[in-house]
Amino acid sequence: MSTAAVAGRARRTVVARAESLTKAYGSGETRVIALDAVSMAVRHGEFVAIMGPSGSGKSTLMHCLAGLDGASAGQVFIGDTELTRLKDKQLTQLRRDRIGFVFQAFNLLPTLTALENITLPGDVAGRTADRDWLDQVVTAVGLTDRLHHRPTELSGGQQQRVACARALAGKPEIVFADEPTGNLDSRAGAEVLGFLRRSVDDLGQTVVMVTHDPVAAGYADRVLFLADGRIVDELVEPTAATVLDRMQQFDGAGRRS
Ligand code: ADP
Repeated sequence: MSTAAVAGRARRTVVARAESLTKAYGSGETRVIALDAVSMAVRHGEFVAIMGPSGSGKSTLMHCLAGLDGASAGQVFIGDTELTRLKDKQLTQLRRDRIGFVFQAFNLLPTLTALENITLPGDVAGRTADRDWLDQVVTAVGLTDRLHHRPTELSGGQQQRVACARALAGKPEIVFADEPTGNLDSRAGAEVLGFLRRSVDDLGQTVVMVTHDPVAAGYADRVLFLADGRIVDELVEPTAATVLDRMQQFDGAGRRS
């Protein structure tokens, strides 16, 4: 990336931030430190991948950033709002209004069409749909001719793209995707990742994705590597090859220690 591009990115507003975020589970001898004083920030219009071995704290970090799990110490912010100070009801509202989620399981309602699934969260929240935005999302996701099909009439990749469109429909400040391609073959995975990429490039979305797949991480602007609850490395403008290379270095270091 050019110096100007790096400087440009640094000027963008921070959408999500963790400050010395620590998360412990259990107590006494069974106490596990899932996150150990993690500090990180995601800027507007960034696509960030979180990687690391199983048990390194990826899901915990994402859940804490998204207000799905509380912190043991430290702070989490979405925009200027400190999540760690909010009451349950306020957190629920913030998740509904300001955050989009994509999970490994598509979680679509089988009785509703693709379009009804996409607009459901907004309908439930009583939001007036922004038709122009919805059109843009549906066009970018490439589902215009499938909108009136039910999930069973769609492929896995199409279903996950519906789930992505649903996450974006409410114009969230940030989308969190937890292993979004975990249930998909590589071609369907590429469709979903291509859409997430376009949502950042063309629609100005901000995306944080947990993945263990170097190919998926290659779609991101930046990869954060976690190990034992800490951020141990970062790769800017990754490719599948550079991510794989970095992962192998960690594996090698792990075997040597
Ligand atoms: P990853 O997503 O990288 O696989 P996790 O964030 O799921 O890692 O887990 C990090 C650590 O926290 C692991 O040691 C895991 O066993 C522990 N952990 C996660 N969730 C819980 C929980 N609800 N109760 C107890 N320990 C947990």
